[in-house]
Amino acid sequence: MKDQKAPSPLPLWGSASFSPSRQLKALPQRGSGEGAFSAVLFDMDGVLFDSMPNHAYAWSHAMTQFGLEMTAYEAYLHEGRTGSGTIDILTQRYWGRDATPEEIERIYAAKAALFNTLPKPKPMPGALEALTAAKSLGCKIVLVTGSAQARLLESLEQHYPGFFRQELMVTGFDVKRGKPDPEPYLMGLQRAGVDAEEAIVVENAPLGVQAAKGAGIFTIAANTGPLEDSILKNAGADIVVPGMMDVARLFTSSSFCR
Ligand code: CA
Repeated sequence: MKDQKAPSPLPLWGSASFSPSRQLKALPQRGSGEGAFSAVLFDMDGVLFDSMPNHAYAWSHAMTQFGLEMTAYEAYLHEGRTGSGTIDILTQRYWGRDATPEEIERIYAAKAALFNTLPKPKPMPGALEALTAAKSLGCKIVLVTGSAQARLLESLEQHYPGFFRQELMVTGFDVKRGKPDPEPYLMGLQRAGVDAEEAIVVENAPLGVQAAKGAGIFTIAANTGPLEDSILKNAGADIVVPGMMDVARLFTSSSFCR
């Protein structure tokens, strides 16, 4: 854990160690004839919305109701996994078996009920700037999320007007296999009509990074939660930055989109 305190809802950008010029050296070199990248695929929870503290709180408290102990920190490690996959990891640990379909339904319902009592997540600081920079560089903006939360998906247009088009969105309603399976990112490439090497992913979670790298895409991890940078690096992230404002800085200090 980065520190011993509870996960902070505050973004962690602006650290002294962040250096755009150093990070830019990690960007893959592209031949001038090929042009630069043409699409940026954005994850949603923990990237566009500061929603992960709510998810982590709801998961850990819902599990406790069933005698399963899951810290908020662990919830961040499992971010992106399907609900049933997350529940099975806990029941295997404490009960030595997978959860029954009825147990999954009850635990997931408890998590959803708690989540819905929490204040609506705010836009992630820096996300609007990152979207604006990517768009002004000529990149297509694609949403790739395993989430099927209607209220957050509806908030996209409210907080990020004009950035997301229905045909360039992959959500929990579309995908069969959640992250870390590459399916959602492969679907995102297909919708954008671009190859993996023409795209960049912006993610915040280890399993999301794995999914993006599994799809063969250059991946920037914005570490907006409590996990150590090394966890995102080990998941395969090409660049790890402290937050979305740093992603915006990367995009504005380079010209890698056409
Ligand atoms: Ca995420």
